[in-house]
Amino acid sequence: MARIAFIGLGNMGGGMAANLAKKGHDVRAFDLSADALDKAKTAGCLPVASAAEAADGAEAIVTMLPAGKHVAEVYDALFGVAPASAILIDCSTIDVATAKQVAEAAQAKGLVAVDAPVSGGIGAANAGTLTFMVGGSAEAFDRAQPILADMGKAVIHAGANGAGQAAKICNNMILGATMIATCEAFVLAEKLGLDAQAFYDIASVSSGQSWSMTTYAPLPGIGPDTPADHDYQGGFATALMLKDLRLAMAAAKDVGADTPMGAKAAERYEAFAAAGQGNLDFSAIIRTLRD
Ligand code: NAD
Repeated sequence: MARIAFIGLGNMGGGMAANLAKKGHDVRAFDLSADALDKAKTAGCLPVASAAEAADGAEAIVTMLPAGKHVAEVYDALFGVAPASAILIDCSTIDVATAKQVAEAAQAKGLVAVDAPVSGGIGAANAGTLTFMVGGSAEAFDRAQPILADMGKAVIHAGANGAGQAAKICNNMILGATMIATCEAFVLAEKLGLDAQAFYDIASVSSGQSWSMTTYAPLPGIGPDTPADHDYQGGFATALMLKDLRLAMAAAKDVGADTPMGAKAAERYEAFAAAGQGNLDFSAIIRTLRD
C-alpha cells in the first residue's frame, strides 16, 4: 500500500480518493473547500492544510482539478516538496499544451509525471469503475497503473505526455457529435410517425448504434435508465461537455485539424449553455431540436 497525496476532492476527486483509502492506501487529502475535506475524512482519508503538506513524503500525487491553470498552480506548489521518487498523476481534463508543459516542468525538477484523464462520470468515480487514458513514458505508466487500477476498471497507455488528454478530447468530440446526431434521428423518426421504441429497437442493433443510442438514449422511457428518465438531471452536464469540446476545438486549431462536426456540436452546446441549460445533462440538447 502506498502513501498517496490527493488534491482536488470535488464531485469526481471525492469518490476517487475514498476508493484509494478503501483499498488500504494512506491518503493525505487536500482541497480548498472545508466541506470537501470533511467528506474525505469521513471516507478514511487524512485531511491536510495544503497541497505541499499532502505531497510531503508521498509516493504518488494525484490531482483532480477543474482546469489547466489549477494544475499548473498546484504543481508549482509541489515542486521542491514532492520527493524525487514520487510520481505525479494528473486525472483532470485539461488542455494538451498545459499537460505537456507541466510534465516538462516536473521532469526539469527530477520528477516523473503522467496525464491520466478519465472517462466515466461521478457514478463511476464513486464506484471505482473509471477508464483512465494515460500519457507518459512506458516506465511512468507502469508506476501509475496500479494506483489508477484501484480507482477504475480500465487503465490504458495512450502514448507520450499529453496523449491521455488528446485521447480524452477526441473521445468526447465523438460523444458530443453522436449525441446530437442521435437526437436528430429520434426527432426525425417522430415526425415521420415512427414509434420511438421501435426505432430504438432497430437502431440499437443496426449501423446507427452508438453509446449515445444504446447506453444513453436521449428520450425518456427508451433504452436503459438514463438522465432523460430524470428530466435530464444528473449525468454529464452540458457545461462539462462544452468544456471538453472547447478543448478539442482549441487543440484542433493548434494543429490545423479540420473538425467541422466537432465545431458544429460545440456551437450547439454553447448556445444551449448560454440559454441557461448548462446544468442539464448534455442529452437534453434534444429539446432544442424538438421545440
Ligand atoms: P469539481 O469542481 O467538483 O471539483 C474540483 C475541486 O478542485 C473542487 O473541490 C475545488 O475546490 C478543488 N480545487 C480547485 N483549485 C484547487 C487548488 N488550487 N487546490 C486544491 N483544490 C482545488 O470538478 P469535478 O466534477 O470533480 O471535475 C474535476 C475534473 O474532472 C475536471 O477537470 C473535469 O473536467 C473532469 N471530469 C469531470 C467529470 C464529471 O462528470 N464531473 C467527468 C470526467 C472528467
